[in-house]
Amino acid sequence: MTVEAHKETLEFKAEVSQVLDLVISSLYSNKEIFLRELISNASDAAEKLRFESLTDEQLLEEDPSLRVRVLVDKDAGTITVSDNGIGISRQEMIDTIGSIASSGTRQFAQALKAAQGAAAEGDAEQGEAAGDALIGQFGVGFYSAFIVADKVSVVSRRAGLTAEHGVRWTSDGGGSYTLETVEKPARGTDVILHLKDDAKEFLEPWRLRTIIGKFSDHIAMPVEMEKEDFGGDEEEGEDKADKEAKAPEFEQVNKGTALWMRSKADLSDDDYKAFYKHISHDFEDPLAWAHNRVEGTNEYTALLYLPKRAPWDLWDREQKHGVKLYVKRVFIMDEADKLMPHWLRFVKGVVDSDDLPLNVSREILQHNRKIDTIRGANVKRVLGLLESMAKDEPEKYQTFWGEFGRVLKEGPAEDFQNRERIGGLLRFASTHNDDDAQNVSLDAYIERMQEGQKDIYYITADSPAAARHSPHLEVFRKKGVEVLLLSDRVDEWLVSHLHEYKGKHLQSVTKGKLDLGELADKEDQEKAEQAEKEHEDLLKRLKDSLGERVNEVRVSTRLVDSPACIVVGEHDMSANLARVLKAVGQEAPDMKPTLEVNLDHPLVKRLEAESEQTKFDDLGMILFDQAQLAEGGQLDDPAAFVGRLNKLMMNMFMSGG
Ligand code: ADP
Repeated sequence: MTVEAHKETLEFKAEVSQVLDLVISSLYSNKEIFLRELISNASDAAEKLRFESLTDEQLLEEDPSLRVRVLVDKDAGTITVSDNGIGISRQEMIDTIGSIASSGTRQFAQALKAAQGAAAEGDAEQGEAAGDALIGQFGVGFYSAFIVADKVSVVSRRAGLTAEHGVRWTSDGGGSYTLETVEKPARGTDVILHLKDDAKEFLEPWRLRTIIGKFSDHIAMPVEMEKEDFGGDEEEGEDKADKEAKAPEFEQVNKGTALWMRSKADLSDDDYKAFYKHISHDFEDPLAWAHNRVEGTNEYTALLYLPKRAPWDLWDREQKHGVKLYVKRVFIMDEADKLMPHWLRFVKGVVDSDDLPLNVSREILQHNRKIDTIRGANVKRVLGLLESMAKDEPEKYQTFWGEFGRVLKEGPAEDFQNRERIGGLLRFASTHNDDDAQNVSLDAYIERMQEGQKDIYYITADSPAAARHSPHLEVFRKKGVEVLLLSDRVDEWLVSHLHEYKGKHLQSVTKGKLDLGELADKEDQEKAEQAEKEHEDLLKRLKDSLGERVNEVRVSTRLVDSPACIVVGEHDMSANLARVLKAVGQEAPDMKPTLEVNLDHPLVKRLEAESEQTKFDDLGMILFDQAQLAEGGQLDDPAAFVGRLNKLMMNMFMSGG
């Protein structure tokens, strides 16, 4: 096989250089993290090779001891992070290092730019904070090299290929990079950093050792540096040339023991935090963690972390990073989604099993009882972690909820078994408060329930304001009954699966005939029934003018200030869900709602007295349309509505009103 020894210059994918610039300037004050990121990548590459060599021993060539080395060349002004791991092929260079390979990168770059734009336009503090937050979510990985280097070369050879299949990638972090074929006898990857003038401090070996100790002590891979010569004076009889010819000796500078295998008592919070950053590429500390060793027939260790901030790609289906699977200290796979359900996809960490076979594949994971047990226990651990946080550190829990609440809301639909426990962790906006913060738990709601109230009431709408101002809440306000205000998209999904909590039914206030149970005034109820008969004529006329648009017109017991509102059947899809579905291009059934009218309202009285049919029809339609608008709905024919309204106003002016 011949090798194309060609050199080519390629452009970065458009967003890369943009992200690069922003990232580098943002991380300027936190330069040293480049080493953590590169050592992380190097040790991942070595772990991948270890795994692949389980089935193909040849890959280890003559060099089975996997390790990462950090080399300094003061004269050249370079640092090299070198691994003897899996290596990178030419195509992989293009696919991975040449592009921050994810669909969300463009949005990310834009958001970052906006944040930094704000910083430039005077709102410096806020803009900067937002920028830092975004960077934290991003996880720059390899690109952090450009924080300290003005030129970076990556020389690599994939394990299993011959020496002449080496490839060198070089870039100065501008718009392009070059790729050329080179000889590389040793398997693996060297990342060579040509340090900028203001980063020369990193040429001091002790400085590097300190950083390695801080960030990489507990990764399960030796990190080596050249043995330091503390011999003092040069030995006699040994000239310089001799010294250079001698192969350098290396020594391990990190502990190199897998952190999760150590006992909790030996580990400090800082140890846990440093390890979190290593596995997550997150720049911030984690919010909380749980470290457990399980003995017995299914022995394993789990170390699970909750991040402080949602990653920028939380909603990206392709999102990666999560819980890594190890078997007996050997890395098996990233993103082992079988270890954590989708609704807990933000959890990061490590599971190390002593009982799974080393040759475990994704297929085996699908139907493995041990894995199912581990996953079940992981879910319970995370729930436990969240429950104690909610109880003991409510403010911290609010932070968590703000970042991940919408993901947790997927839980009740996906996990029947833990539905009640997840229910206890949910937080909602509520009429109990004046702001839109989601901070009311179902338990707090239940505690405040009125005597005689049997249901937990909620309303779904497409914004907090639309929920809070809905006419449907009028009677609840009058009676002092709390209503939960649900306006996240996922809320409809949530309430269609969470029908009950602690024996209390969750009841939408926009569905069905209002049944306030014992809360209802007997008198009100009777009055409404009476009114229904007395005003039969009005109801029938309205139904006739609205025709097929409505299912029924009836007297309302839920309105106080508004003339009319829209109600759907108890088992129909809510109008809000129908809107959400239509907005994402899905089919929603065409439902005919019920119009409820408030007989005490002057407009309705005026309508009842109207004898001229066209005027009655117009007014009726306006009532119906504005009831839809009040709920955040859209009109089928907005222009017609505006036409009718204008006609009405003209009449008003002409009659001198
Ligand atoms: P991430 O590690 O989050 O995927 P990086 O930007 O750090 O992002 O790296 C991009 C990709 O480049 C990695 O996923 C990996 O495939 C590849 N890579 C980086 N460093 C190495 C290395 N030392 N050996 C092998 N592959 C590497």
